[in-house]
Amino acid sequence: MNPKTFLTQAIDNLMGIGPIIVSTLKKELHLHTYFDLLNYLPFRYVDRSKFYKINQIQSSDVEIQLLGKISHIKKVRAGKINRLEATFTDDTGSIQLTWFKFSDWMVDKLTKDKQFVVFGKPKLYNQRFSITHPEIDSLSDVKKAAYNLKPIYHSTDGLQRKKITNNSFIKFYRTLFDQVTFNVPETLSQELLQSQQLMPLSDAYRQVHFPKNLQQLTQAQQRIKFDELFFMLLNLQMKKDFDQHNILSYPFEKVGENFRSFYKNHLPFELTNAQKRVIKEIRTDLGTNSQMNRLLQGDVGSGKTIVALLTALLAKDNGFQTCFMAPTEILARQHFNDIKSLLKGLPVKVDILSGSTPMALRKTLFSELKSGEIAILIGTHALIEDLVVFHNLGLVIIDEQHKFGVAQRAKLWTKNTLAPHVLVMTATPIPRTLAMSVYSDLDISIIDELPKGRKAIKTIHQTDKNRLKVLHFIKKEVDKGRQVYVVYPLIEESKNLDHKDLMDGYESLIRSFPLPYYAISIVHGRMKAKDKEYEMQRFAKGETQIMVATTVIEVGVNIPNASLMVIESAEKFGLSQLHQLRGRVGRGSNQSYCILMSKEKLSSTAKLRLKALCESNDGFKIAEVDLEIRGPGNLLGTQQSGLIDFKLVNLATDKDLITSCKKAVVELLKEDPDLQKKENAATKDHYLKYHKPKLDWSRIS
Ligand code: ADP
Ligand code: MG
Repeated sequence: MNPKTFLTQAIDNLMGIGPIIVSTLKKELHLHTYFDLLNYLPFRYVDRSKFYKINQIQSSDVEIQLLGKISHIKKVRAGKINRLEATFTDDTGSIQLTWFKFSDWMVDKLTKDKQFVVFGKPKLYNQRFSITHPEIDSLSDVKKAAYNLKPIYHSTDGLQRKKITNNSFIKFYRTLFDQVTFNVPETLSQELLQSQQLMPLSDAYRQVHFPKNLQQLTQAQQRIKFDELFFMLLNLQMKKDFDQHNILSYPFEKVGENFRSFYKNHLPFELTNAQKRVIKEIRTDLGTNSQMNRLLQGDVGSGKTIVALLTALLAKDNGFQTCFMAPTEILARQHFNDIKSLLKGLPVKVDILSGSTPMALRKTLFSELKSGEIAILIGTHALIEDLVVFHNLGLVIIDEQHKFGVAQRAKLWTKNTLAPHVLVMTATPIPRTLAMSVYSDLDISIIDELPKGRKAIKTIHQTDKNRLKVLHFIKKEVDKGRQVYVVYPLIEESKNLDHKDLMDGYESLIRSFPLPYYAISIVHGRMKAKDKEYEMQRFAKGETQIMVATTVIEVGVNIPNASLMVIESAEKFGLSQLHQLRGRVGRGSNQSYCILMSKEKLSSTAKLRLKALCESNDGFKIAEVDLEIRGPGNLLGTQQSGLIDFKLVNLATDKDLITSCKKAVVELLKEDPDLQKKENAATKDHYLKYHKPKLDWSRIS
């Protein structure tokens, strides 16, 4: 048989698998071919080299293994049901074993005085431990089978109904591996295997299903992880290389008058070194005629907006327009106000377009956009609409990018003959390894430095019983002339309840901070955009001292005089959201505070989240913790999580592997960009067969 076709065979061909099993495996687990079956990996292993003593058993659901003798055995009849009960004894005590299904040969087999190995989950019943349906084998048989680590495969109700057990899987794999024609083609070159010290793939599969020992298992898992990462990264890197050669943009060749004049006379502060470095990286990209695709990462408050503005000025000086997209109306308006005031005195016209822009204004705006009069157009999703036509769009900036879908972004590309350059900015940092894998097709710039003079925000956790203390603290800050945010969660499922909490909170704050001495703003999702904006403006101007809000203020809002952030029901928020909210304070020179309010009793992950926040102000560090707690899928949302649907790789713990794998991919493609060389034939083969079709490159043309 052609070794290449072995893996593509249908599982129907496997000896000992009947049609019912075949259809169940297909239906329940989508296992169709030998390749699928091979890649159905154990999710854990139980250590069969370890024996427990009966007196060591603790109340738990973990499977354990015991060594001992049968001291007593009897059939018990209860109504129509027979059961078999045995007392199993070692030198520390005894335990009851029960079988509801048994055959007579089993009764014969379980002779007294012979040594047996029992394996199963103990349960506490009437103060005594017992095991129902344990596996039981004679010691000599167990020695013969010699598995130290027994693989455990995920099961489903459907599998159980058809009596496909864990041992059935072990049997399938035994049969598969015993086939004379068994063959797993290697996917990596000999050179790569050697330099990365990787086990051949074929051995790796054998070891994950039948591990000889822990060391071999670890190496096998490492090898399979390497493949998972390698081909994903190869895919993205090839796309990136392809883009570089095929997606042309207009080069911004010169640094012109507006950029220079702004830099010299209008910058309100000196740029941090990190900001300067990033601008240089961007300028280099923009100077060539291949499209820039850059992800700008920076912690909350690190000053990404000014970088965006300087980039837009580069576009303007080269005769191009910029479209700057923000995820919410509040944020778009704030960018508009900030940028407009920064640009005062410069001949650079900026405007804003959002869902609530009135028809009459739209008309003028569209015509000024088409004539090229407007240099920078800021806005929300409304920017994507077909009616928005530019004179010469050269740059697209997207703030807080994960709120936008890929398709939405791609639409902006079509607004000029050549694709515009793209700068994407994140709301909060993404862990480095995650960025390296998922955004591997983008270039990444990092602002890893906060502007000078920022004081670290002090964060504490309080529960409801200390509410009065918190109220006093709010008063203290307000009386100093500072401003305070009080944020409530708004969860889709408990919308009405959350809204009630918010309104109750607002009412009670009004009682503590009465008019005319104090004024309180409120902003929530049920208000009209115009009213929200009005309240935001009142707070921004300092006319109100407290802003009660839902998470509409989460991203980007910048009011330097605000020094206290109180987050109600903090346990309901995600970690990066909490960090993002906290980033609304600490923007001025005052010492700022964040108080996380929660109920008394918290889940263990909620505790971890709040603790991480109290301990660190560093968004990159917090992102790492978030990745560990939640896993990458949740961190990114569903948009990109398809890319990281790994079987074994853990993006939180496999950092070194990701780094070395990425390096290997880059080196490979540098030497052999189209995988033409003979030694890379296997890699190319595997790539074309199993990986390439996953990615849709069609949006490129
Ligand atoms: P983010 O990266 O969260 O979008 P912003 O761009 O909103 O941060 O900047 C946060 C605040 O820091 C703004 O008030 C901005 O004017 C200020 N800022 C930005 N860069 C500097 C700098 N180099 N020195 C001092 N203040 C700065
Ligand atoms: Mg921002």
